[in-house]
Amino acid sequence: MTDPVIVVGAGPTGLLLAAELALAGVPTVVLDRDEAPAPHSPGQAVNAAVMDILDQRGLADELREAALPLPGAHFSLLWLRPEELPGPPAARGLLVPQSRLEAVLRRRAEELGVEIRRGTQVVDLGRFADSVSVRLRTADGEQLLRGSYVVGADGADSTVRELAGIGFPGSGWTVSGTVGDIEADFADLSVQHLGAHYMGSGGVYSGAPAGPATLRVITTTFAEDGSPGTPVSLDRFQADIEELTGRMLPARRLLWAERFTSVSGNAERYRLGRVLLAGDAAHSFYPLGGLRLSTCLQDAVNLGWKLAADLAGWAPPGLLDTYHAERHSEGERARLALDAQLALMHPAAGAAGIRALFGELTRLDQVNEYLVKLVTGTDVRYRVDDAGEIPGAADLLGHRLPGTAPLLRTGRGVLIAPSTRAHAAAGWADRVDTVDPTAAGTAPALLRPDGHVVWAEGAGDLERALKQWFGAPR
Ligand SMILES: Cc1cc2nc3c(=O)[nH]c(=O)nc-3n(C[C@H](O)[C@H](O)[C@H](O)COP(=O)(O)OP(=O)(O)OC[C@H]3O[C@@H](n4cnc5c(N)ncnc54)[C@H](O)[C@@H]3O)c2cc1C
Repeated sequence: MTDPVIVVGAGPTGLLLAAELALAGVPTVVLDRDEAPAPHSPGQAVNAAVMDILDQRGLADELREAALPLPGAHFSLLWLRPEELPGPPAARGLLVPQSRLEAVLRRRAEELGVEIRRGTQVVDLGRFADSVSVRLRTADGEQLLRGSYVVGADGADSTVRELAGIGFPGSGWTVSGTVGDIEADFADLSVQHLGAHYMGSGGVYSGAPAGPATLRVITTTFAEDGSPGTPVSLDRFQADIEELTGRMLPARRLLWAERFTSVSGNAERYRLGRVLLAGDAAHSFYPLGGLRLSTCLQDAVNLGWKLAADLAGWAPPGLLDTYHAERHSEGERARLALDAQLALMHPAAGAAGIRALFGELTRLDQVNEYLVKLVTGTDVRYRVDDAGEIPGAADLLGHRLPGTAPLLRTGRGVLIAPSTRAHAAAGWADRVDTVDPTAAGTAPALLRPDGHVVWAEGAGDLERALKQWFGAPR
């Protein structure tokens, strides 16, 4: 029997990656040291890029049910105007507790046959030419598990990254704070307690509905000042909130609250032989506005099909290495975008001039468009060679093509082409679906399983693109 892919970490990255692999028929096991799913995942802002990814796999509607739309987009809490962007409106982000997103992904992974083993901590790693092994610590003692590949999706403090000896250089920016849910009567809340607010060098306050009479509060200070995961009492939380906002938050009770710390770092490499890194294990930065989770989930959909192609034997040479090439630069770009947002906030007196100027720049349409696409994660573009000579068509290459999500449910490549052209993909029929452009409602294009365009009518040679991304024909 084939050794499974071992995914370490049942957070959003690990769960989506496992579902992607299982969709492509790859035996996959997910290991997590926690005995049960985290009841209180801290995230809540789900940006447009996450919704696009979920939509591609038919999971977006389920998440939208009973969720609130994400109110607007900002860069360093300088508010932008997403509604003014040209073209069709992008998917709307959501305000939804991350635990609900994880529940959707977990159910999908399990439906597809992924084995999720809990109470299983990875403590050692063996790397071999044709396999990997991980040593697991469980309540019953230690065991060894062999796999074809191991993916560290085990969070910012990644054990897999450390065991593989992969460095995590960063800029030194560190933020800390408290995240928790407070039960309150919304009618008693002050305007300061709702929404996200920059409080000068005091930090950042964010309060958003997380359920009926439940407010998810995040306080951030621009320093490392606490041990992550430590529980926080209601009195202490209320004191922090009052210090930041100047107003007492009247609470009925505290549902949970804990300290968090976030560092700025990007792994030196996302692939070392049969060891791969994804999500927070690969990159970490200040979790403001939703870019962190979208960067994680984009890793998962970028890696899933490439790993599956490698294991199925049809991957063209170097395909798996494009994971590092494409995602490392995106992890770095996202990390720097968050470092830049911090630099516009702290220290407040020193940053005031550049912040005021930046605020003026955001009024320019092009700046607004650039920043909205950056913070919503929708500007990700991968390098595609052979761009051809028709600029309009070449502009599509590397991007995702709006409106194509329903075509990507199977997790296979998609050739959008009239029947006269579609026969060109006959040799790839086991990897690439063909769809008529009229039915698709878009221009002819070849999409990878993660939705990115690698050929468009007028930009490049179709057969060459098929071989480059989908290997030799059968
Ligand atoms: C206060 C706060 C607020 C945030 N808000 C947002 C937000 O609004 N929007 C947003 O986009 N992002 C937000 N984030 C970031 C978001 O929560 C993370 O980016 C996301 O959880 C990363 O997912 P992941 O699957 O990569 O890692 P994680 O969610 O950290 O999952 C890693 C998993 O690995 C397991 N694990 C770790 N080590 C081992 C081991 N040795 N063996 C086995 N299992 C192991 C852990 O138990 C865990 O389940 C926030 C983060 C914080 C701290």
